[in-house]
Amino acid sequence: MSVVHFASSKVKALSADLTLPAKFRRLLQRYPLKEMFDQKSVAIKMHVGGHLGYTTIHPLFVRILIDAVREAGGRPFITDGSGAIPGAKFRGYTEEVLGAPVVPAAGLNDTYYKVMPVGYKSLESIRACGEIVDADAMIVFSHGKGHGHCGYGGAIKNIAMGCVTGHSRGGLHALIDTEFEWDKDHCTHCYLCRTNCPGDAISFDDKGEFSIFAHHCKYCMHCVTACPEGAIEINTEGIRQFQEGMAKATKVILDTFEASRLMYITLLASITPLCDCWGYSTPSIVPDIGMMASADMVALEQASLDSIKIEDFLPGTLPEPLVLREEGKHLLEKIHAKDPYLQVETAAEIGLGSREYTLEEVE
Ligand code: SF4
Ligand code: SF4
Repeated sequence: MSVVHFASSKVKALSADLTLPAKFRRLLQRYPLKEMFDQKSVAIKMHVGGHLGYTTIHPLFVRILIDAVREAGGRPFITDGSGAIPGAKFRGYTEEVLGAPVVPAAGLNDTYYKVMPVGYKSLESIRACGEIVDADAMIVFSHGKGHGHCGYGGAIKNIAMGCVTGHSRGGLHALIDTEFEWDKDHCTHCYLCRTNCPGDAISFDDKGEFSIFAHHCKYCMHCVTACPEGAIEINTEGIRQFQEGMAKATKVILDTFEASRLMYITLLASITPLCDCWGYSTPSIVPDIGMMASADMVALEQASLDSIKIEDFLPGTLPEPLVLREEGKHLLEKIHAKDPYLQVETAAEIGLGSREYTLEEVE
């Protein structure tokens, strides 16, 4: 059974030493950082968000991590997709603040990569970002939040979608291969589906026939949830394929490292329903939970998802057109109509870790 360390956001007394950043320092001391990172280049893979988003990982936590890696003798650098780095300065991710360079993962033009085979359905290979696969070690520092395509965006999403070039992100998205079914007899032509489509992908022709322009579709399911008549259905097999493809791409990236030089940390605070890539933030759907870390990525993902509980949902935090559906076993499934555990299930099946874990709290 794998160990997941957990530092709670809850504060037991009015003391800075009992707050999350101080606990995070103590959490990091539970790991043999010198053994893992001494004399090594260490890629700290984050999702630095975009535009007006303010709920990505606060630079204070990043600085604490960087200082710990440096003290252990490592050479850390922050990295994310090439397109995300130029705008990251605006939100505080600079070398001056963080104490380490902020590097575009596939070079300035998203053209520094290595092609690596995956062999899963249409995803024959991925273009793995050069700066990441060149590193000696990696810390996957993720922000846990909802995600329209896979329900949950944590470590697997951070690796699979963030350690490859834009071209391969397209290849992963193509795995959704979604087929929609529209029930003409039940459609009342209220057009709520079209109004609530963020991709402007839905249209109705002169005869009132519904169609989706696949190129513009973000697979967010908003049309499905917005339709009062239940007239739109989505082929959920594509959802499974997307999550399986992400898990398989994750394995390809992780296999470029020695297992002993990998570490996974997830911040479960400001848990927004949508991914940081949307370029804006909405309220957290549950109270802040804390920080989790593990040497086992699957255990960390499982523990993170288990900690986001339906009973903790904060009413009034969902932006329109998102709603809490009746169906779904997990809070994020109730919002996005996708089982967020599918990616974890596949990751465990292909040997990336164990879904069984024990939680060790760090005070
Ligand atoms: S899934 Fe989302 S992006 Fe695609 S058609 Fe429906 S509302 Fe539009
Ligand atoms: S939301 Fe449903 S009922 Fe309304 S136009 Fe779209 S498919 Fe038809």
